[in-house]
Amino acid sequence: MLNDTIVAISTALGESAIGIIRMSGEDAIRIANDVFRPKSKEKLMDFRNKELVYGHIYNDNKIIDEVFAVYMKAPFTYTREDIVEINCHGGIIPLNQILKLLMKNGARMAEPGEFTKRAFLSGRLDLAQAESVMDLISAKTPKGFDVAFNQLEGRLSLKVKEMRNEIVTIMASIEVGIDYPEEDIEDVTFDEIKNHLESIKNKILDLINNSQTGKVLRDGLNTVIVGKPNVGKSSLMNALLREARAIVTDIPGTTRDVIEEHINIKGIPLKIVDTAGIRDTDDIIEKMGVERSKDYFNRADLIIFVLNAAEELTKDDIDIIDLIKDRNTIVLINKTDLPQLIDMDVINKYIRNDIIIRGAITLEHGLDQLEDKIVEMVYGDKIKKINENPIISNVRHINALEMAYEQTMDAIKSVENKMPYDFIEVDIKNIYDYLGEISGETIEEDVIKKIFSNFCLGK
Ligand code: GDP
Repeated sequence: MLNDTIVAISTALGESAIGIIRMSGEDAIRIANDVFRPKSKEKLMDFRNKELVYGHIYNDNKIIDEVFAVYMKAPFTYTREDIVEINCHGGIIPLNQILKLLMKNGARMAEPGEFTKRAFLSGRLDLAQAESVMDLISAKTPKGFDVAFNQLEGRLSLKVKEMRNEIVTIMASIEVGIDYPEEDIEDVTFDEIKNHLESIKNKILDLINNSQTGKVLRDGLNTVIVGKPNVGKSSLMNALLREARAIVTDIPGTTRDVIEEHINIKGIPLKIVDTAGIRDTDDIIEKMGVERSKDYFNRADLIIFVLNAAEELTKDDIDIIDLIKDRNTIVLINKTDLPQLIDMDVINKYIRNDIIIRGAITLEHGLDQLEDKIVEMVYGDKIKKINENPIISNVRHINALEMAYEQTMDAIKSVENKMPYDFIEVDIKNIYDYLGEISGETIEEDVIKKIFSNFCLGK
């Protein structure tokens, strides 16, 4: 059902100055004319396209609310259909009453994401762009927003298109090889196909390599602070929170008995867990045994291990070092303001120097270096690549890219083994299709349905 008229409240429900109801479809303007009476002229249609018009919403002869209404004529609209938006008072009562009235006059309640789905189905946005709309809304930091915005602008789509065009070129030359096998067509040497495939492989790999950063910018870096009791874990947590206070996202912080906070470190969203939040035992190894903290620990993208510089290294410390040695870790040697007892020579035996930061958290020493280190770990040496390539943050896209990558490797192998052209062609067609899943050109209907069902209502 594409040509019915849908309606939804597009702003968050609560008590706000203004709320917006959006309606899209063939009957949008007719329905608006039925319920909206402008102050100065007869009907909404008497005004210019996209002009904000003052007036009242009427249910029969009773005024429901004082509003601004605007109509946007197809096809230059979000959905490419006629759209009417009504800006009313932002309370639950006016919004719901107007919504009901519009439905009584023939509009249907939109499904979650249905406006954006229509934008996709009408070709206004491709699938990757449509998905970015949701990421824009849910972005936790300005950088996360930038990633989504680039995707909306079509940077990823463009890249995918380029690669798919290159594949079409290869397929065309293979077709020539298949159609005229007896002719010695020099263009279609295996070498040339292989070169093209290598180039595509590298492009896909660049995108995949960026995706780890993209995921972090979108979903946050799961960070766990570990260390023996009293080394300064809570102090560190508090210091990081203080630094970030101005930009802390107001997601409920405490989950069950583990303290989890969402903070923003130089644009990177961190979901940070202080295992000191579990107070039932003071023995850190025992704490690790606590199922929940173990789970956090295992899932962590980053572990901040705190040591006390005013103490000698103990067996407990070494045990922790053992646990974290293959993980993404930053080691903070804290309390450097006190007389030093820790032996750096011993530390260096176990821990690489480039992941060690020395500081005194209660004096805010070392905090800046720690934050820089976190940034460095997220971007790694990829800063340049990240600027050249779109950052992928969506798991569906990453999966499609990984499948495309595998197929490319298969195709390269087939070429190296000088397999028959039509055999190679199957692999190459698969690369083409997997890439097409990102932009939505080759995708199953039910996948599309699922994607849009995750949207919020009214979007
Ligand atoms: P946790 O048990 O690991 O969470 O440790 P806390 O953060 O509760 O800190 C334990 C004690 O060490 C507190 O009294 C802190 O004030 C103190 N502390 C933390 N960091 C420093 C530091 O850098 N220098 C000094 N002198 N004391 C610190």
